[in-house]
Amino acid sequence: MSPGSDIVITAKNFIGGEFRDSLSGERGENRSPVTGEIVGSYPLSSASDVDDAVATARAAQRGWAALSVFQRVEVLNRVAEEIRSRREDLARLLTLEQGKVYALEALSEIDEMLEGFAVSLEAAKALEGTMPASVDPKKRVLVYRVPRGVAVSIQPWNYPVVMMGANVVPALVTGNTVVSVPAPSTALVASELARCFAAADLPAGVFNFVTGLGHVVGAAAAGHRDVDAVAFTGSAATGAAVATASAGKSQLLELGGNGPTVVLDDADLDLVIPELLSSAFLVAGQACTGAEWVLVQDGIHDELLARLTSAVQEHIRLGDPLDPETRMGPLNNAQLVTKVQQHIDQAVAAGASICTGGELQKEMPTDLYFQPTVLSGVTGDMDIACEETFGPVIPVQRITDENEALAAMERSTYGLAAAVFTRDLERGLRFAEAAPTGNVNVNLGSTWTEPQLPFGGGSGKSSGIGRSQGRYPLTDTFTELKTVILQLR
Ligand code: NAD
Repeated sequence: MSPGSDIVITAKNFIGGEFRDSLSGERGENRSPVTGEIVGSYPLSSASDVDDAVATARAAQRGWAALSVFQRVEVLNRVAEEIRSRREDLARLLTLEQGKVYALEALSEIDEMLEGFAVSLEAAKALEGTMPASVDPKKRVLVYRVPRGVAVSIQPWNYPVVMMGANVVPALVTGNTVVSVPAPSTALVASELARCFAAADLPAGVFNFVTGLGHVVGAAAAGHRDVDAVAFTGSAATGAAVATASAGKSQLLELGGNGPTVVLDDADLDLVIPELLSSAFLVAGQACTGAEWVLVQDGIHDELLARLTSAVQEHIRLGDPLDPETRMGPLNNAQLVTKVQQHIDQAVAAGASICTGGELQKEMPTDLYFQPTVLSGVTGDMDIACEETFGPVIPVQRITDENEALAAMERSTYGLAAAVFTRDLERGLRFAEAAPTGNVNVNLGSTWTEPQLPFGGGSGKSSGIGRSQGRYPLTDTFTELKTVILQLR
């Protein structure tokens, strides 16, 4: 098929400054969702490998924390340089292993990671302490931030590069040492990123990387008694298990969402349609912020549906993600194909109609290329609306007004990112204030975010706790306040 299918990676763990196989020597293999060919293999590690990584991280932590933040920034800038110098080959591997479109999505994921990287380094230099008053004139009080200690980062396969950066960099720059655990199906691109950390000559044990199955390696890392902070990005179900396993540790949980996108009668459809295309079909719908549930007010519903269907047919070209003409690549794995097809079939059986798409594209190199799909007649109780489908499907539900949309969103288990389209900005702002999600975009697709802005799930939902991006993980997850009282004579 495309150039690039010749890549074969032999990934290793990176523990205590050395590349190693797992203690058992067992390995797993990854096939490309793009070509079906083997992309490489990675160690199938066990809890004992995690023990080794945590022990070496613990041993290195005090020395790393004793450096000034400016010294840590200097070291981490070398990592960023290394990643930048490998931008194209990392992106090509990301496309082959994950399936996302090279020109539109993989290169920009590397860039997005580097932008977040720079934001974290700047934010760390700007952290300050305070000197609050004491009741006693002979006492002085210092309150300042100290690292938690050893941090674990567990990443998903949909954004393996961005999410590794989003957790690992804020942890390291604030003086924690790290054990990074990638998702198995994107362990190879993560291992090449780990090589960038290794190439920057961090002190041994500061950055560690262990691959393997999530319920083995991820579970061992999240529940490890010598780990102080756990940053997890993944599904709500695994997040709940991680929350329990890591109870008592500092936690950052970035979980799933279904991107409710509400289009009100007075919306500008010239704006809505392209925003919907980009937010629903980004990474073939495998984005936590993706527009997976579109609620459209009566008065504009029929026109939106007609224009959306023809725009999807015209613009969303499914194909080889290394081809510059392609707009959407394959799904990452077969379980997801099954889930997407089940959600569509259940919706149709319950009364929804397929306007376009609805099944796998035939005669592709793998059985993972799913057609861009629009469904009408969707209701809020269908899985396609209330669950995270994580595929290239826009389910359209008719609503009478924004109150109906807000009530449906209240009932949803998710509360990550939402969008509302209206020409009336006050109406949009009132909607945003009432929406039970951590992020709301007005006249902008639900996937838009920026690396300096806080991002995370709303309270009481299953989309996570804490905020990633910007200075927030540095203050809220990876450091804690130390209070020191000095008695003067
Ligand atoms: P997942 O929950 O299946 O896996 C996430 C990670 O957890 C993987 O590394 C996996 O190996 C590991 N894991 C599996 N079982 C574990 C266990 N018992 N203990 C500890 N770790 C375990 O999620 P996924 O399918 O890889 O990723 C997609 C999900 O991630 C979607 O739900 C998506 O919405 C979510 N996501 C959220 C954000 C966000 O910022 N909120 C960003 C990207 C993805």
